[in-house]
Amino acid sequence: MEVRNVAIVAHVDHGKTSLVDCLFREAGVLDRNQEGTVCLLDSNEQERERGITILSKNAAVTWRGVKINLIDTPGHADFGGQVERVLSMADGILLVVDAFEGPMPQTRFVLKKAFAAGLKPVVVLNKMDRQGVRPDTVIGELFDLFLDLGADEDLALDFPLIYSSARDGWSGRLPNQVDDGMAPLLDMILEQIQPPAMDDQAALQFQVSTLDWNDYVGRIGIGRVQRGILRRGDEVVHILNDGSRKRGKVKELYHYHGMDRVSCEAVHAGDIAALAGIDGLGLGDTLCDPSQVDPLPPISIDPPTIEMEFLVNNSPLAGREGRFVTSRQVHERLQRAVMMDPALQLTIGPSGSNMVAGRGVLHLGILIETMRREEYEFAVGKPRVLTQEIDGKLNEPVEEAQIELPEDCVGRVIEFFGKRGAEFSDMQRRGETAVLFLRVPTRGMIGARTQILTLTRGEGVVSSIASGWAPLNDKIETRHNGVLIASEAGRSTAYSLRAFEDRGDFFIGPGEEVYQGMVIGENNKDNDMVLNIVRNKKLTNVRSANKDIDEKIRTPRQLGLEAMLEYVHDDELVEVTPYSLRLRKRHLVEKDRKRSGVQA
Ligand code: GDP
Repeated sequence: MEVRNVAIVAHVDHGKTSLVDCLFREAGVLDRNQEGTVCLLDSNEQERERGITILSKNAAVTWRGVKINLIDTPGHADFGGQVERVLSMADGILLVVDAFEGPMPQTRFVLKKAFAAGLKPVVVLNKMDRQGVRPDTVIGELFDLFLDLGADEDLALDFPLIYSSARDGWSGRLPNQVDDGMAPLLDMILEQIQPPAMDDQAALQFQVSTLDWNDYVGRIGIGRVQRGILRRGDEVVHILNDGSRKRGKVKELYHYHGMDRVSCEAVHAGDIAALAGIDGLGLGDTLCDPSQVDPLPPISIDPPTIEMEFLVNNSPLAGREGRFVTSRQVHERLQRAVMMDPALQLTIGPSGSNMVAGRGVLHLGILIETMRREEYEFAVGKPRVLTQEIDGKLNEPVEEAQIELPEDCVGRVIEFFGKRGAEFSDMQRRGETAVLFLRVPTRGMIGARTQILTLTRGEGVVSSIASGWAPLNDKIETRHNGVLIASEAGRSTAYSLRAFEDRGDFFIGPGEEVYQGMVIGENNKDNDMVLNIVRNKKLTNVRSANKDIDEKIRTPRQLGLEAMLEYVHDDELVEVTPYSLRLRKRHLVEKDRKRSGVQA
């Protein structure tokens, strides 16, 4: 069967999921009575909330006798080269753009890699049913963007284009000439995207581009069959990323059909296969027929830039919500995470705790969030930037960042990043929105997202990716205030919150369970302060007891996971449970804190 391998690139909310639904429907993958069920590609609700794709997934449809593999790409962040690896399976891309909003800066990164890999786009201008769409302006923006990202001029001037409404299920080559369904788009894919090389007479060659895991078969390697035919039961030579070789046997073999990974006997050259049963299978490994062993070039994985300690949760409130709470359970889960994501590393720290390293706070934040949802409970320490010696000089990781923000906030944001060692490379305007492009040491990025929200009335959108190393910058100001700490266990009262209101900003409201040593707010001053937050007014009569509830207090400052990871100090931990996030001192008792402070 002929094949096309297409990577889908889209900004979150531009309609990727709806469009893939329509493709499935058109190609008959969806059962009619399944119609209307949404969320095929984007099954992970966390991705939806964060607007990124965590692990790229594959799907496939068959159209006019050709199998089209649809390869999902990360929405805007890249964690260690995943985008290139995913794109290496593709022969072209499907770029989905909202005809109202136009291309967004977050897709630049993936698009740039796609052009660098020589992949040609088919552009879908989606949401054409919306009032006020501006297809011609958007086409102009795409032209500029493509040129800017290194596409050749002919392509930028004349890219294959389909107008669609994934919501209403129509598409067409001209805005005023559309058909029900997605046939025009599927035909355009067959026409415009090159078929892969399909030499299935040759000796087998296959490279692992992404990894997955399931409890029954363990590690799963996914990639494209470069040459020959991969069969279940094949005895192969397995060349590891480090060049060493061993024998292995393909015990399980799958291809893609609709959203499913389906067991099969053989996968031919050009098609995408998933397989299991080979010991120690890793990213970039090649499998070859023993008669002709040619390893493909190894895949390089970018080194981690930050590290974080994962500990057992030993707070007084531990074990109430989580199902997996022991150090062994946490350790095993982390081992599994590392097996699926080679940009993560796991080592054992001096005190026996798990040290997890990854490509930035967001990368580790996603791991933490995933574990919470799987009912794990644990504590994490402050993210620490990893340094590297390059040419005898200490270097720190830097990130390339883009910030979309209202025009009138630009000055404040530039000033803010100036203090954090940023170099500004460009600024673009899109209507009332400005987009700043800059390079910032990772150290300066930690804590920045939260602050940018404050500086931009909640409208600033920061995207950043790790991008190389630079000599240690000694001019970064990241000082912050001391914290407010609970002195006793109990429930916070409006009465005490009110009484200490002028001391700082609380992270908790009334009626929340607290414990000794828990961080409950930020001090106005730069030292830490211990407060009894569970005191009640002397109850003289019923009326005054009720009055406590009415006590007017400021709304607490809500810190989400990322904000906490960015906020936490060296001597503090973030307590993570399925339903709660708390900041706490490592040493809950003040006397222990003082003693360890003296030692330090
Ligand atoms: P994704 O985040 O790119 O996967 O986008 P979704 O497919 O989930 O769509 C995001 C939102 O846009 C949803 O509320 C959809 O109903 C809506 N949407 C998707 N396609 C269209 C379209 O063609 N027209 C309109 N008006 N809305 C659409």
